[in-house]
Amino acid sequence: MDNCIFCKIARKEIPANKIYEDEHIIAFHDIHPVAPIHFLLIPKLHIDSLADADDSHRDLLGRMMVLASKLAKTQGCNEGFRIIVNTGRIGGQEVFHLHFHVIGGHQHLPGMIHQG
Ligand code: 5GP
Ligand code: ZN
Repeated sequence: MDNCIFCKIARKEIPANKIYEDEHIIAFHDIHPVAPIHFLLIPKLHIDSLADADDSHRDLLGRMMVLASKLAKTQGCNEGFRIIVNTGRIGGQEVFHLHFHVIGGHQHLPGMIHQG
């Protein structure tokens, strides 16, 4: 995907403040953090969104979930964290390359969904 910003990060065409990289996955700090700890996990493989994931991605998604938890702890989320996967227009997704937000810090995160 030529113009995908996260593919460009995966190809090292644009810089990112990386915290982890292996053959399949990269993790880097979000450029606009919403909490003291806020990083993103992406597969190197371009998948538009979680809505486009299928059985062929099961291993990759499992790796991402386990890694998200490991990295959350090494980044300082000792008492918990939240993983968010904004998906599609209704889910508020802005970058259409599948990514997990991992968010945490020293205080309780706000409630999941604002009501009313
Ligand atoms: P979404 O709404 O698609 O789930 O969130 C996309 C996230 O990517 C946003 O939190 C935004 O701050 C982050 N982001 C967008 N462009 C860049 C970039 O070039 N570098 C980094 N590190 N984060 C980015
Ligand atoms: Zn991409």
